[in-house]
Amino acid sequence: MKISHIEVIRLSIPFESDRAPPARPDTAWNAASPALKQMETLLVRVQSDTGLQGWGEGFGHLCNSVTALALQDLVIPLFLGKTVPESREALTALMAEAEKNLHAFGRSGPVRYALSALDIALWDLLGQHLGQPLWQLLGGRREIGLYASLVSYNNQPEEVARQVSRAWQAGFHTLKLHETEYAAIAAARAALPAEATLMVDVNCPWTVDEASEHARQLAGLQLGWLEEPVWPPDDCAGLARVRREGTPLAAGENAAGENGFEALFERAAVDVVQPSVAKVGGITAALRVIERAQSYRVKVVPHCFYYGAGLLASAHLVATLPPEILLEVPYIRFSPLLYPQLDFSPTLVLPDTPGLGFNPDAEILKQHTVSHLHIDAEGAHHV
Ligand SMILES: [Mg+2]
Repeated sequence: MKISHIEVIRLSIPFESDRAPPARPDTAWNAASPALKQMETLLVRVQSDTGLQGWGEGFGHLCNSVTALALQDLVIPLFLGKTVPESREALTALMAEAEKNLHAFGRSGPVRYALSALDIALWDLLGQHLGQPLWQLLGGRREIGLYASLVSYNNQPEEVARQVSRAWQAGFHTLKLHETEYAAIAAARAALPAEATLMVDVNCPWTVDEASEHARQLAGLQLGWLEEPVWPPDDCAGLARVRREGTPLAAGENAAGENGFEALFERAAVDVVQPSVAKVGGITAALRVIERAQSYRVKVVPHCFYYGAGLLASAHLVATLPPEILLEVPYIRFSPLLYPQLDFSPTLVLPDTPGLGFNPDAEILKQHTVSHLHIDAEGAHHV
């Protein structure tokens, strides 16, 4: 079975998050920003000459056009005509070869995101070949819990309190904010029952001293974790210092390769690591991070702000982790729903179809496609 052609599909789907538009435009890109009304997804579809198709997703959002170009010019040509891996070992070897060939282009960034998309699609094909859903192939369970990752509500305490109450009423008892000010975070804590678990993702805004001050102040709120408090995100020594203030820390979505995670482990910088399947190198690389984290006894909670095959890939990974580890899902309503699992509730029953089980609605896919490229041995053309 050979890889005959690969498609690259960029989608943009509207969503509703029940919030007012921002007073002034954001200067830094953030997936949780109030300015966003549509979510972009970058999908790949790998086709075999026997008629199987495997889906993958690469990071992401405003970077999609760049990742798409990395797929088209660098990554996909390496895979066309290759034998589809029919074992985990063969898949790992094929990805290692591709990673080595492309090593000059970074351990993180668009080339790595493109490799991640291919890896996920090859896992989808492997599961189909072996006749097993990925959660089963990886030794996991079928049902997992979800946590609600709220978009930013501009640090407005009343609005943040209203939104966490809404999510709690919908059954989400573990929630994450994207707010940076104490008043907004404290308002969320006060609005929730004591048994709720509340995390806060601040997206790398502070110096180590500022982050330490915030962590000290937040210690009384008993957060599940404070995520990426320090700029730059790979300042592992700085994170380790902030961690001493008593608030648990999480990071890893921006770590570069396994050694980026190793640096976090070695410095005892975090309580939770967050490999991001569509950034880190796909399922293969995420599994390696999980294995290393276990040897350091650090908890793994995958990062997931994905809406396509990447969300299901993250779900299959979570299915292999202890039952208290929850899948991150964006607390927004997509309209229309590209596939049924996007209608989030606090538990998710994974598909029992072989592979990833990603089955997008063909009509919605077509209507919301921004660009669609078909690449085979003859070259690339727009569909
Ligand atoms: Mg984050």
